[in-house]
Parts: sequence; C-alpha cells; structure tokens
Amino acid sequence: MRYSGLRLVAEALRGHRGWKPLWRDPEPQKDYDFVIIGGGHGMATAYYLAKTFGKARIAVLDKGWIGGGNIGRNTTIIRSNYLLPGNEPFYELSMKLWEGLEQEFNFNAMVSQRGIINLIHTDGQRDTYRRRGNAMLLAGADARLLTADEVRERAPFLNFDNPRFPIKGGLMQERAGTARHDAVVWGYARGADMAGVDIIQSCEVTGFEIADGRVTGVETTRGRIGAKTVGVAVAGNSGRVMAMAGMRLPIESHVLQAFVSEGLKPTIPGVITFGAGHFYISQSDKGGLVFGGDIDGYNSYAQRGNLPTVEDVAEGGMALMPMIGRARMLRSWGGVMDMSMDGSPIIDATGIDGLYLNAGWCYGGFKATPASGYCFAHLLATGRPHETAAALRLDRFARGHVIDERGAGAQPNLH
Ligand SMILES: Cc1cc2nc3c(=O)[nH]c(=O)nc-3n(C[C@H](O)[C@H](O)[C@H](O)COP(=O)(O)OP(=O)(O)OC[C@H]3O[C@@H](n4cnc5c(N)ncnc54)[C@H](O)[C@@H]3O)c2cc1C
Repeated sequence: MRYSGLRLVAEALRGHRGWKPLWRDPEPQKDYDFVIIGGGHGMATAYYLAKTFGKARIAVLDKGWIGGGNIGRNTTIIRSNYLLPGNEPFYELSMKLWEGLEQEFNFNAMVSQRGIINLIHTDGQRDTYRRRGNAMLLAGADARLLTADEVRERAPFLNFDNPRFPIKGGLMQERAGTARHDAVVWGYARGADMAGVDIIQSCEVTGFEIADGRVTGVETTRGRIGAKTVGVAVAGNSGRVMAMAGMRLPIESHVLQAFVSEGLKPTIPGVITFGAGHFYISQSDKGGLVFGGDIDGYNSYAQRGNLPTVEDVAEGGMALMPMIGRARMLRSWGGVMDMSMDGSPIIDATGIDGLYLNAGWCYGGFKATPASGYCFAHLLATGRPHETAAALRLDRFARGHVIDERGAGAQPNLH
C-alpha cells in the first residue's frame, strides 16, 4: 500500500478501515541468504540490500521490538558537521540520503532541516570551528560561521553574557536538523517488508554456527537459522554478541540518557549545542524541549541512567539558557551506547568468512542510519567497502589509523 494525500482522503471516507499493519509478522524460515542481527541500523541495511542491491532471502532478527533500541531512544539530531576525512564524506552521504528518505521509502519520518548551531565561547574555539567548517565545505556539505549578533537574532534567550562562557558566535549547518526517530525505523521496516524481508521480533541470537572459519547460521531463542552471510548491528550489545563468535572488540558499552520537558510554545529555533560543556537541545513538534549531555561514565548494559548525570545535564542547560529552569521535565530514559576507542564507527568484515560487523556508533549513530545501512548493505552484497566507509575498518586500532574527531585518545568515555 502506497501512502499519499489521496489515500488519506479515501481512507477517511471509509472510516479508516483499510489501513494495514506496517509489516508482516512471519515465522522464521529454516535458512536465509542474509541474516541481519539488530533492527536499528540493521533494518536500514536490510532495506538497501533488498531495494538497492537487489538481494533476496533476507531476515532481520531482533531480540526486542522494532524501535526498542537506540534508534528509538536518541535525541533525534541529524547533521554532517565532522572534521576528519575518514568521517565527513560518510556523514555527508547520510545527510544526502536523509534529504530524499521520505520520498524514497514513502513514509513520513518528520525529517526537518531546521539547522544546528554549535556555539563558540573562545577565540581558539572559533579557529577550530572555522577549520571544521572548511573541511565540511570541501566535502560538499554546508557550513557558515555566525557572529554573536547573528546567534542572538536566532536565539535571544541564550546566556550571552555569562562571565565564564560568553557566547562569541557559532558554527551553523543549515541542512542539519531532526527526524522522528522511531518513524525512521518504521519507514525502513515497512519498505524492507514490502521488498520481501522477513522481520522477526522477540528473536534473540544466542550463538553463531561457525565451520571451517565460515559462518553458516545463528542459534536463536526461536531455533537455529541457517545463513550464508550474517551482519551484526546490535549497538550497545556488540561486545556481548561478537564474544559469541570468539571476538573481543575495541568497544565499551555505556549508558546515555535523554530528557524531554513539558510541551512549550515554539522557542528553540533548531538544534543548539553548548560549546563549553556537553549539552544539546532542540524542540519536538509537540513542543517538548528534547535535550541530553554526557554518558553516565561507567560501563553498563542498563537502558536507564543515574541521578548525578541528570544533575550534570541540568547544570549544562542552566549555564546555557537559564530560562530552562522554569520548564518541568517530563521524562528521561537511557540507551546502551557502543563507544569505540576513537569515537568513530566500524563497518567491516571480520576474521570469520561471511560474518560482518556494524558497530561503534557512540553518541552519533542516529544521523548515520541511512549511510550506515547503505554502506553495510554495500559491504554485505559486494564484499567490498563503500568508498565513503573505507576508513571505518576494524583493524585501524591495530594499524594506528584511528579516526579521533575529539582528539581524546583511547578513552571511550570521553568521545
Ligand atoms: C539517549 C540517546 C541519545 C542519542 N542522541 C543521538 C542524536 O541526537 N543523534 C545521533 O546521531 N545519534 C544519537 N544517539 C545514538 C544513536 O541512537 C545510536 O548510535 C544508533 O541508533 C545505534 O545504532 P542502532 O540503531 O543499530 O542501535 P539499536 O537501535 O540499539 O539497534 C540494535 C538492536 O540490536 C538488538 N539486539 C541486541 N542484541 C541482540 C541479540 N543478541 N539478538 C538479536 N537482537 C539483538 C537490540 O534489541 C536493538 O534493537 C543517541 C543515543 C541515545 C541512547
């Protein structure tokens, strides 16, 4: 069923009795050509495998429900404002895919290019952001340095004269913005299902079947499923899942929290990030202020965080925009982040034939969803990395070719 304005009118006249579930709920088959573990980036991967690369006999297995992982828990920010050549072309590919995504999979994912401003608080920071903006322009992205007055025009409520963190300007990417996170995965799931992909929920992978150095299937809570090729995209569970294949990853799992306030009238013009602390904020279409900050700082597989981080994030918000102290916080939640040693992701083959890995997304995997799915599908379908993901290798840590945007070193808690 294609969605359109006409369809909406027709269904309204029929009392909305014709709508169908977005995807089927099939029993797992005995074997597939491609088994993708994880229904976040994994769903986008299955979509592109079927639609772009013309592959069939594909299943996505998820231990929970579609949208229950980080893909439905993030603060919805999409952007491509990176510095390093290993990252920027990849995230810009993602941005371009976002721009046509809703038309491509015929689903309203509320992609809204309302812009992002990274605030500048020191002269040194201005130099750094100018450099980053130039790198973005060279990679075909958009970037603009704003003066303090230009920032004030857009966001007069910010604390410009804070004596410790005065606002001296900002780096703006106008094409950045937000998308409704769970609608993104629903759109991919619907598109994948229509292309013949089996989406199997409540199906936890509990082991790999490996013979003569080649993966031949997976053990699951719903029985054994044979597979010629297996793609693993399980975010915060990457370490646990790959351990079942005998691999130890350069990844730590940390909890990251997000927060939403009561609904307010339109206030925040786009996405704003504090440059002197870790705090980022936007406003949802329902009016809630959506914001977040640092990871909790200890290893965890729990999808909820602790109060000291709530306080830390609130302090960041108060330093940046004291008026936020008047808003009531409605909800908070957490997700398990796959923090890599250099803060950049991994899309690569493993030492086991037919077994591929997509992981290490840290804070920033939501914006990457389209490119991650596309590039992982490219790798699974052709056995070769996509040109924009060629640097996202698993062995880069051993070779010393890390992609450390933040320059923090091998400190996953700092990226
Ligand atoms: C609070 C928060 C805020 C964030 N904000 C942003 C943001 O604003 N912008 C941005 O770009 N990124 C953001 N991120 C990061 C982004 O959400 C993630 O990097 C990205 O969604 C991770 O990829 P994924 O979608 O594949 O993960 P997930 O959606 O977590 O998918 C992994 C799936 O694997 C399944 N799984 C795990 N183990 C197994 C198993 N053994 N068998 C079967 N299935 C299994 C899980 O159930 C899960 O559904 C945020 C994350 C959080 C938690």
